[in-house]
Amino acid sequence: MANDTPTTAPATPTVEQFLDFMSRNKMNITAQRRRIAEAFFNYPGHHTLEDFYQHMQTLDPSIGQTTVYRTLKLLCAAGLATEIHFTDTVAHYEIVNAGAHHDHLMCVNCGKIVEVYDSAIEKLQKAVAKAHDFTLLGHYHVLYGLCPDCRNAQKDTEAGGEITDPARLVTQQK
Ligand SMILES: [Zn+2]
Ligand SMILES: [Zn+2]
Repeated sequence: MANDTPTTAPATPTVEQFLDFMSRNKMNITAQRRRIAEAFFNYPGHHTLEDFYQHMQTLDPSIGQTTVYRTLKLLCAAGLATEIHFTDTVAHYEIVNAGAHHDHLMCVNCGKIVEVYDSAIEKLQKAVAKAHDFTLLGHYHVLYGLCPDCRNAQKDTEAGGEITDPARLVTQQK
């Protein structure tokens, strides 16, 4: 796909799209994988494997974490989910809504994630790729810092200590 115009696919992915991807690639469509895909599409947000697995447990305790993990990977391969690495430590998964791209702001202290979109940044990224004769297929863009709550709490306690190692702080997210 060398074309970067938005597809006309429905905004929210469907289980049918996943099943279609699986059969095109000659992979087994198990009832569990189907249930996981369904649950994922009905659970918007940014989830770690652990978060989503806990959610799956409430729906179907018979599904193991490895199956959940592999299915998330398959959803990513199908282009219906995306894996975001906010830091080196934990991957988050979210639904890919066709034609509704966004980037992320992340608080390195509490793990809060805010979705952002700025057409000027999007345009600039395309221009940069073009200047280097790259066909742009996507990008991975996370701005990290402190949310207002954490910044204010920090001011209260230690009068503005600098965060020097975001990866260290984010392990205690949510
Ligand atoms: Zn925060
Ligand atoms: Zn997002």
